[in-house]
Parts: sequence; C-alpha cells; structure tokens
Amino acid sequence: MQAQIKLGRIAGISIGLHYSWFFIAALIALSLAGHFHSVTPQWSDAVVWSAAIITGLLFFGALLAHEMAHSLVAKAYGRKVRSITLFALGGVSQIESEASDANSEFWIAIVGPLASLVIGFTFLLIARVFGWLSGREPGNPFMAVLLWLGYINIMLAVFNMIPGYPLDGGRVLRAVIWWITDNADRSARLAAQVGQAVAFIFIMLGLYRFSVGANFGGLWLAFIGWFLLDASRRSYFQVVLMERLRGRPVADIMDRDCPTVEGHLSMQDFVHEYLSRNGHRCFAVVQNGHLSGLVTPKEVEHVDRERWAQTSVQAMMRPVSQLRTIAPDTPAIQALEIMSREDINQLPVLSDGRLEGLFSRRHILDFLQNHAELNRR
Ligand SMILES: [Zn+2]
Repeated sequence: MQAQIKLGRIAGISIGLHYSWFFIAALIALSLAGHFHSVTPQWSDAVVWSAAIITGLLFFGALLAHEMAHSLVAKAYGRKVRSITLFALGGVSQIESEASDANSEFWIAIVGPLASLVIGFTFLLIARVFGWLSGREPGNPFMAVLLWLGYINIMLAVFNMIPGYPLDGGRVLRAVIWWITDNADRSARLAAQVGQAVAFIFIMLGLYRFSVGANFGGLWLAFIGWFLLDASRRSYFQVVLMERLRGRPVADIMDRDCPTVEGHLSMQDFVHEYLSRNGHRCFAVVQNGHLSGLVTPKEVEHVDRERWAQTSVQAMMRPVSQLRTIAPDTPAIQALEIMSREDINQLPVLSDGRLEGLFSRRHILDFLQNHAELNRR
C-alpha cells in the first residue's frame, strides 16, 4: 500500500496516510460525537465535537504505536523497515526482505497486538483511577473518551489475533507452524490458506447478518472479509512466487529478445512503426549496440503530438544514467525487491554496458505460467 500523504519520519521510518484513512477517521469522529451526545446531552456541540476529534487523534496515535511496535522489533532483528502506512482498516508496516526464522517472525507479529492490549488496559486503568467501576456506564465525556479508547484498543488486539494471514494472528500461526515443521514456505502457504478460509467465514457471516437485518454491521464484516480474502490470496501468490524464484538468477527469466529502436528515429515513426504495432510497452534505445536509454508510453505522453515528427527518440528517452540496471547474475528475488521498492515495472539487464535483456513483471508471470502449476498445489 502506497501512502499518499507523508507525515514525516520516526526512527528512520517514514509515516504516511492512505486516502482511505480519512473515510474511517470521519466515520469514527461521527460515531463518537453521537456516542458523547447520548452520554451527556447537556454538553454543547462544540465540546462534543472537540472530544470526538481528540479521541480520534488518540486512536490514531494508538494505531501508530501498534505499527511502531512491529517495526521496531523488526529493526531489532536486523530487518529494514521502509514505511508505515495507515489506511481504512488499520496500518501496515512495510518490512523489507523475507522473514529469516520462525522466532523473529513470531515476535515481530505478536508485539503489535500486545502493544494494543497494553494501551487498551492503560486507558481502562486511568478510568479506574478516576473512579470508574467496571460494568458501569461512563458518567461524563472524559470517562467516555477513556473507556472508548480502552475498549477499542483491546478489540483491535483481539481482531488482529484472528489467525488469518496476513493479519498478525496469521503471522503468529505461520511462525508456530514454521517452528514445528521447520519449513518456511509450507508454513506460509498453510497460514495463507487458513487466512482465505477465515475470510470466507467473515463474508458469509456478514452477508447472513445483513440478510437478517443487521444492516451496516453485516456489510462491514463482509467488507473486511473481502479485504482479507484479497490480502491472503496475494500472500499465497507471493509465497509461491518466492519459492519458484529462489536460487534463480535474472538471466533465467528475463526477456532476451527485447525490442530495440535506434536513437535517431523520430517519435512519429516510433509510435506508428513500433509502439502501436507489437504488444511491447517498453523499448530499449541502442546506439552502436550499447544501451543508451529506455522509452515507454509514459515518455511519449510527455511530448505534444504536433512535435512528434521533429523529436527524436533519443531526445525524450530515459537515459541509461537515470536508469536502475541489473546484471544477468542478480538473484531474481533481489531484482523483484528493487522493482517494488522503487516502484518500477522493468529493469534492463546489462553486462559490460551491453543490453542482455529486460526483466519485467510480465516476464515473471510468463515464466511462472510456463514453469509452474500455480493453482495445482
Ligand atoms: Zn499488527
């Protein structure tokens, strides 16, 4: 998940918001305002709304603390953490590179729900100190804020411990299976399959509740199930992908007959004779057999149509000096990590400045289709 709004960095980790977060923030503020209104009808709108917004911000802080817990433990185990993104259903920590052992996987996963649990009980404890007795309704907005934050964080911990990969509970499950079977790939596949099963149960339960009149609660559950199903499918695919690519160099997978064009070609000719003719989306620009740059439909868009005849491919290509390139013996997994980290779709494969081929997501998919039966395992 890519953050659209960057908030800054904590401990070297960039913190960001996805647009969908605003939707949930507005929903939380609205429901809180309604809740506070019912607790203390005598309070003015201004007070109710400020209480709702302060509570929302504290909740945001608690979510961030949950993700920071994952990230800091991951860092302590030597893994790189790129970013934390908050979105409609919580947060995600982008931890680079694969889990190396069951032990670290277990602690990185479980520390998030533990953090939420501690935060939740701390709020309830503060409420207790100020005279709240369990089972009793909150008497004033201050108490309502504390109780809401207490319960929501405990619920967050419980929800995240549902054993469906990639939820935290699914990661804990994976670590336990890994520890028992001593097989990293099998444990991840199993946990992702349990995740899909859990997601199906959510969707069914949600649709059932919706059909018997629980309205939005039911739909919300079905929506979370649908999201979880998508996420666990992706993780399953990711695991199989990693299994197939492990130990393979880029040279095994790259496209060797990458289409090339001469630099002096005009854009006009390039578009008509190359781009619109064959299905390729990316062309290598060569000069004397050496790669001088890449040209994709993206570069074409930057030039006005009237100037196509006068502009050469050389003039608008992305020059090789600005390109990320790899060697034929680069491990395929490492190349894939570079592509996702830098958000690029293809990497030219160079050997002594000569273009050997092109490594792209599409060729990985082709490779998988030709060499593996993804769905039959
Ligand atoms: Zn978590």
